[in-house]
Amino acid sequence: MKLTKISDSSIAITRKGLATLDHEPVARREFSFSILWRGIQKRCPQCGVGDVLTGYLKPKASCEHCGEDFSHISADDGPAWLSLLVVGHAVVPLMLILGRDPAIPALLAVVILAIITLVGVYFILPRAKGAFIALIWVTGATGEDMLSADQDVQE
Ligand SMILES: [Zn+2]
Repeated sequence: MKLTKISDSSIAITRKGLATLDHEPVARREFSFSILWRGIQKRCPQCGVGDVLTGYLKPKASCEHCGEDFSHISADDGPAWLSLLVVGHAVVPLMLILGRDPAIPALLAVVILAIITLVGVYFILPRAKGAFIALIWVTGATGEDMLSADQDVQE
């Protein structure tokens, strides 16, 4: 949904009418690869200094450096999907190569593939989560409009 900013107040016109925004209107943000790269580095997409994750995968509610609010952003299954997409494209060809080589015992092939999968997912998953948080932040695709549409249907 495209938001049209009408003034410096926190009110914007959406497709469904008036809505209040408690964060910066999306219309001000433009995608750039530096924003995506900040996300991949698990850094705040706004300032690039603060972290977006605490611990391994838990997202922070806001940036400790610039105070940007991330509480409305939920990456959901996106990071898992991207991690499996990347790791799968490395593991499946290796599976075919190792599986067809009679010199490599099947158990050894399974151990090698399992290690590559675990290490690959461990490395990629938090970076994918940071990237998704940055992309959702820059596009404003938080799903809040979908939730309000569901509530309209129920009323
Ligand atoms: Zn920040």
